[in-house]
Amino acid sequence: MVAPRIFCIGRNYADHIRELGNTQQADCVVFMKPYSSIVPAGQVVPLPRNRGAVHHELELVVEIGSPGADIAVADAPGHVRAITLGIDLTLRELQNRLRQAGSPWELCKAFDHSALLGKLVPWQATTDLQKIDLQLSVNGELRQQASTAAMLFPVARLVEILSHSWRLLPGDLIYTGTPAGVGPVKPGDRLSADSPQIGSFSWLFS
Ligand code: ZN
Repeated sequence: MVAPRIFCIGRNYADHIRELGNTQQADCVVFMKPYSSIVPAGQVVPLPRNRGAVHHELELVVEIGSPGADIAVADAPGHVRAITLGIDLTLRELQNRLRQAGSPWELCKAFDHSALLGKLVPWQATTDLQKIDLQLSVNGELRQQASTAAMLFPVARLVEILSHSWRLLPGDLIYTGTPAGVGPVKPGDRLSADSPQIGSFSWLFS
């Protein structure tokens, strides 16, 4: 039995690339978090202390249901079994330092409690993966709002890209990138992630 993995995509929405002052490139960014970093919805999230700003990144999350390598875009939807909303927590100041040094991102992206995960909802082809509305509120104040229609690399393309490097396995998760509006969270904040097509999930930070 192979443990599932968490694949994460960076630079998949033009408005978020602009807000961080990055430039759009031909490829998306791919990184991973350990499966042990997951915090299910409804649980309290301990924030890292004294390591600079921790930012929320609201993302559509896709779960793989059937295995495959070198999956074609046309076949990709057949490998998706569930979707949900997730939050990719990021130590932003540390990320900027690592980026400047040309270093890997694990320290700023893959720490404990960095992958908030809503309840997985079975996906059917009648729900268009590129017409999902998502929004994030912090203490009731709207911070992020987008449609997956704005993705630079649609879900099927992400499945194709990842499956060229890894044979995708049932249970693998893909965090598909964040739109604009990322910002810091602090102890005591309550985050609520909502989508009419998926559901609503919340986390309290300590
Ligand atoms: Zn992200």
